[in-house]
Amino acid sequence: MSVGWDAHPDVAAWTGLAPLDGDRTADACVIGLGGSGLAAIEALLARGLSVVGLDTGRVAAGAAGRNGGFLLGGPALFLHDAIARWRADAAVELYRQTLAELDRLETELGPDVVRRVGSIRLAGLPGEPVTDDEAADRERERADCAAHASALREHGIAVQDYAGPLGHGIFLPDDAAMNPARRALSLATRLRARADLHEHTAVRSVASGRAVTEHGTVSAAVIIVAVDGRLDALLPALAGRVRTARLQMLATGPVPARLPCPVYGRWGYDYAQQLPDGTLAVGGGRDRYVEREWTDEVEPSRPVQRHIERVAARMAGVPVTVRHRWGASVGFTADGRPLCTEVEPGVVALGGYNGTGNLVGPVAARAAVALALDGVTPPTCFAP
Ligand SMILES: Cc1cc2nc3c(=O)[nH]c(=O)nc-3n(C[C@H](O)[C@H](O)[C@H](O)COP(=O)(O)OP(=O)(O)OC[C@H]3O[C@@H](n4cnc5c(N)ncnc54)[C@H](O)[C@@H]3O)c2cc1C
Repeated sequence: MSVGWDAHPDVAAWTGLAPLDGDRTADACVIGLGGSGLAAIEALLARGLSVVGLDTGRVAAGAAGRNGGFLLGGPALFLHDAIARWRADAAVELYRQTLAELDRLETELGPDVVRRVGSIRLAGLPGEPVTDDEAADRERERADCAAHASALREHGIAVQDYAGPLGHGIFLPDDAAMNPARRALSLATRLRARADLHEHTAVRSVASGRAVTEHGTVSAAVIIVAVDGRLDALLPALAGRVRTARLQMLATGPVPARLPCPVYGRWGYDYAQQLPDGTLAVGGGRDRYVEREWTDEVEPSRPVQRHIERVAARMAGVPVTVRHRWGASVGFTADGRPLCTEVEPGVVALGGYNGTGNLVGPVAARAAVALALDGVTPPTCFAP
């Protein structure tokens, strides 16, 4: 398994962080150096605290460095679905906070890393429907795109109708694309001189005031556990509230320019972005193999990869060659609301982004810091 994003020179040039080499005492300890954990570290440093950050692998070796690179406003649920499930105030509040997080990320990392190109939600996939069922489903999804657009407009969020070479759907001009590994490593590069960060340091157990690792114990009044997939493995108290699934992707060789921005179709289950060098990063298919994909494994599986190959060809409009295949773990919750919750005094856990955590994760991280330091109850868009 090789991860397409790691081929970027900035990612390949990462020099790494030493493992923890003994016991430490700090004001705060953050477990997980993905996009969420790094945002938590940034927020803790901004409060003048000393921070130890730990990851079992490389920075963003989990989903944070292996995802589709879509920076989408809002939660995993489409806005109208989130409103129906959680009420408008919670759904719209989370949407606004993710867009603010995206502005912050763009300012911090610049347009080379955060490409503010918008995104397209497509009804179905590009190209002619292969079956009658596919044609009917596409029509249903066109109606759903209209409901989605209407909810966005009602709440003052930018949206346009899309009709073009890829098909029909909606265009969301605020959204963006990135190489996710590059985003995380750029953030870690900025933070490593100010925080005590360690890779290759697995945390074995967490309790109030202590995180025990294979190389030493970190004592800290505040412990933030920023692990999306396999959160319940580290914090068994959360078993039943968050469940781990595998999501998979592949990267193709270069194909002619076709996708102007990240594109997600077939109810958001399938997605692709075209990189400046012409290659496509493509994912999806979990809904076709739901039961098998409830797993802690991250190795790609044949059935899902075959599905993604078909998606890649539809997105490209031409046959594709596959250069990389990979998978990673993410956390799902029953009602689609992410978790941000104190599991023991001073220990706050966040995760369960339902497959869309690039912006929701940092929003949760800031809420976790406010909960841990100030006792501020997280907004209702987070499960308590
Ligand atoms: C294939 C795929 C495509 C996706 N596409 C998108 C997308 O386009 N847009 C989007 O918004 N979201 C997407 N997601 C979801 C998104 O990647 C995640 O929600 C997000 O990365 C979560 O980030 P995180 O920092 O919270 O957690 P993670 O990325 O899971 O990071 C947690 C870190 O904790 C570390 N860790 C775990 N256990 C321990 C331990 N015991 N001790 C120490 N460290 C530990 C891990 O090594 C990892 O680095 C996708 C996910 C996948 C897998």
